[in-house]
Amino acid sequence: MFSYYGGLLWVDFINTERLEQGQVEDLIPEFPLFERWLQEAGVDDLPEPAGVDGRQALQKAAGLRRQLRKMAEELTDPAVVPGDWAAFLNGELAAVKGHWQIHEGKAVFVPDGGWLERALWPVLQSAMLFWTEGDRARLKACSNHACIKYYYDTSKNGTRRWCRMETCGNRAKARRHYSKRKGASQDE
Ligand SMILES: [Zn+2]
Repeated sequence: MFSYYGGLLWVDFINTERLEQGQVEDLIPEFPLFERWLQEAGVDDLPEPAGVDGRQALQKAAGLRRQLRKMAEELTDPAVVPGDWAAFLNGELAAVKGHWQIHEGKAVFVPDGGWLERALWPVLQSAMLFWTEGDRARLKACSNHACIKYYYDTSKNGTRRWCRMETCGNRAKARRHYSKRKGASQDE
């Protein structure tokens, strides 16, 4: 049900919204679904969410997702001068208190806060690393105009066009094929 082909965790996170018949559909509208998304995304070292207000947690998660989606929108739209997203990320990072730990030979940062802070940390970290080490030109919106998903293009020549070939890519191909048969000259 969830898609993890965004290439980066924060991109997969914004892809928990999709367009279904012209409407934005939230794939994690309930707390158990959010938990499942985290689990399947590999964020599986979380404490039991005992005492967590599920609705409030979801609201905060959705707030971060909204901002990250806006960041992706601005970074991929050549007609837009992106806002100061480094400052936004710095604000989010400043709010996370934690400590470093050696875990299986690697240095990992462990937030000291509650369940939600620990749940969202890998997403935030992924956005930070994209900003500091990633290639922003490789962040792309799916070429299917009926799709609102994003991906980080790791293909050798940077020529990936679809969030997922099996869905959006094939749909476009089928459309092209169909319009050819009808004698239309328009591509897509
Ligand atoms: Zn797509």
